[in-house]
Amino acid sequence: MTAEGGLPGSTYRLVAIAGDGVGPDVVAAAKAVLAAAGTRFGFGIGWADLVVGGAGIDSYGVAIRDEDLATCGAADAILLGAVGGPQWDDPRATVRPEQALFAMRGGLGLFANLRPVSVHPALVPASPLRPELLDGVDMLIVRELTGGLYFGSRSEASGAPGERAASDTLPYSEPEVARVARLAFELARGRRKRLTSVDKANVLATSRLWRTVVHEIAAEYPDVALDDRLVDACAMQLVTKPASFDVLVTENLFGDILSDEASVLAGSLGMLPSASIGTRRTAHGLHGLYEPIHGSAPDIAGQDLANPIGTVLSAAMLLRWSLGRADAADAVEAAVAGALGDGFRTADLWPRDPAAAERCTRVGTVGMAEAIVARIGITARSPGL
Ligand code: NAD
Repeated sequence: MTAEGGLPGSTYRLVAIAGDGVGPDVVAAAKAVLAAAGTRFGFGIGWADLVVGGAGIDSYGVAIRDEDLATCGAADAILLGAVGGPQWDDPRATVRPEQALFAMRGGLGLFANLRPVSVHPALVPASPLRPELLDGVDMLIVRELTGGLYFGSRSEASGAPGERAASDTLPYSEPEVARVARLAFELARGRRKRLTSVDKANVLATSRLWRTVVHEIAAEYPDVALDDRLVDACAMQLVTKPASFDVLVTENLFGDILSDEASVLAGSLGMLPSASIGTRRTAHGLHGLYEPIHGSAPDIAGQDLANPIGTVLSAAMLLRWSLGRADAADAVEAAVAGALGDGFRTADLWPRDPAAAERCTRVGTVGMAEAIVARIGITARSPGL
């Protein structure tokens, strides 16, 4: 699972989907950081900006158009902010912002969502967990993204009031389980060689299929230690002994919930990146979609309050996985660590302890991006800020 080396002087074709709420704030920040990385490492980026999500509904009447999906498919990778907001939240609406996410995941074959979770030492006080529990936390959650409950057939509520019923179905096929399991084994092979497969095999038929297939594939990876965990036990252990995990692989719904739970370890929802990938390769690496794990945070949108680090670190994953630019990815990650180490904090990261706060500098979205850009190793102020 290594990415190819990037060529100096290359120009990459990226799609930017700012989306809704804080999406435009954090995507502008990540674009500025990518521009700075390009200046330092000698590559260019040609952006196609698409109007998708709630903004797409307002502009075109749909969350994403077929031509937008085609543009995403033709690009080297996609950087997304977030979609959604209260103005599009009517549960009876037939057109909804998140349809864009499902269309991209399904339409672009992005069957795995990768969420790395680690804790920057300077942010340990920002986590609600005791510091000793956070020591050594470094996990990668691999969530199956195009199967299960979110893609199964469903029937909306019907019947007389008092007797209404609705149903969702949770289908999984062997190929769907096998491809994400193989990816997780490969990723574990490149890390500490431990894989935890999370299911509910004591109750669900799909989980029993999941467990059977994962164990069959384990024979191809004798160097990776596999263990199974029931999802309820896993939810507890993520906060009682989070450092015990290396790579976790699980189905769509469990992964959605567990990865949000794991985000508290890092101190703020605004910190964590994600990558959605499949197996399709471009000339530079894996085709993929990169986004922070948080939503559109309408309560702080457009106020220069959003923490852009989750999006900036998503851009670093994009550089590494889709563009083969490990050099630039390392520089971006080091610049984020440097900005945090030097005390720059957005509001969500502000220390509760007054003594710790005294050593910190309060910044907004733009200020944090500037602090990161300044640490990429160039002197010029990058465009986009
Ligand atoms: P949210 O993640 O948007 O916000 C939860 C809380 O975290 C809020 O208090 C918010 O202010 C804070 N927060 C989020 N991102 C932050 C950041 N970068 N910096 C600082 N604070 C941050 O979740 P929500 O409120 O449940 O959802 C809001 C909207 O986002 C909904 O419409 C939901 O459907 C949508 N959503 C979209 C995605 C996506 O686009 N992938 C994911 C989740 C939710």
